Amino acid sequence: MSRWPRIVAHADMDAFYACVEQLDDPSLRGRPILIGHGSGRGVVLTASYEARPTGVGSAMPMSRARRLCPEALVVPPRFERYSEVSQQIMAAFADFSPSVEPISLDEAFLEMTGAEHLFGTPGKMGRRIKDAVKDATGGLTVSVGISGTKYVAKVASDFRKPDGLTVVPPWDAEAFLAPLPIRRLWGAGPVTTERIEAIGLHTIGELAAADPHWLREQLGNAGPHFWRLAHAQDPRHVEGKRRAVSIGSERTLETDIVDRADIDPYLRRSAEEIGRRLRKKGMLAGGVRVKLKTSSFRLMTRQKQLHPGTDLAQRLYEEGLTLLPHFDYDEPFRLVGLAAYDLVKPDAEPQLDLFSASTGRRKLEGAMDLIRGRFGAGAIQRADELGRPVRKGPNLDFLDE
Ligand SMILES: [Mg+2]
Repeated sequence: MSRWPRIVAHADMDAFYACVEQLDDPSLRGRPILIGHGSGRGVVLTASYEARPTGVGSAMPMSRARRLCPEALVVPPRFERYSEVSQQIMAAFADFSPSVEPISLDEAFLEMTGAEHLFGTPGKMGRRIKDAVKDATGGLTVSVGISGTKYVAKVASDFRKPDGLTVVPPWDAEAFLAPLPIRRLWGAGPVTTERIEAIGLHTIGELAAADPHWLREQLGNAGPHFWRLAHAQDPRHVEGKRRAVSIGSERTLETDIVDRADIDPYLRRSAEEIGRRLRKKGMLAGGVRVKLKTSSFRLMTRQKQLHPGTDLAQRLYEEGLTLLPHFDYDEPFRLVGLAAYDLVKPDAEPQLDLFSASTGRRKLEGAMDLIRGRFGAGAIQRADELGRPVRKGPNLDFLDE
């Protein structure tokens, strides 16, 4: 076997929420189930593999999914349980690499460069990671992709789901990508995919064969960016060791936004998510950071310290808003994110929002946590948010520790 200059594994649990439910409740095994809330405007969070042949999938409105798959059972999500299983999975990954980068509850990159002497060939590594996850969780399956870059490893883990293992040696990576459709480019949402297809490129191989200068003319900086990805060039490292503990929430937008005012609802949503998670962990944020990515993939962040620390969404949102004028930009945005950092447990911090004028606000947000915990995230909304739906895009709530 030729030597791999780098080895990156991407591990992604199969239909995670649905499989946890089927693991915990044997009566659900082998049955089509939809995780989500059955009433109102809920969406499918995860569909079990038994339900998928009918065409239902994540993010589909529940009402539509139930028409497509009427025999499916709707099971409300139990995030506490998913996060518990997530910890088991991440602990299993940590046995394989000191550098594990969680992407979500059920998905992580593992830096495996130099680990052959411990675990054998990349194929053997993959098998051992899969066995370890099955052991740690009592039977859940994970799909693993292994290659020389994060991007190709991620595409590979998705290649043969469920319970897949796909090893793509770096020298085969371009050929592996070539027949795949444009939407499989990392970071190409529906709008970008459409733009690339509009200039006549329909597969990753076609994009790889195009002239990068012409691509820049057609697509701006995104052109050469995707050209490099199409050639399986992706220098990004597995970021196992994060600089600081932070909790964040970000959204890739389905359509790029231009107006500053349009950023506000995204910031508010993210702030509410972060506030809720801070309160649940009993932590306060000593800083807030706003992250914007432009349509040409320029990433910008601005941050500020908070004195005293806070776990209130309202405060995170307002402080985030004050950072917006500090961004200079001349192009639309494709991603908006907010993160809380410098997290502390309140007993380590003498000055608290807890005892300040925001006591009323804290009661309100605490009450919202209770209602959402009982009836689901959509159960309660701020009055000023009604009739102002945030456009749906993939979102990523992350926890760096
Ligand atoms: Mg998954």
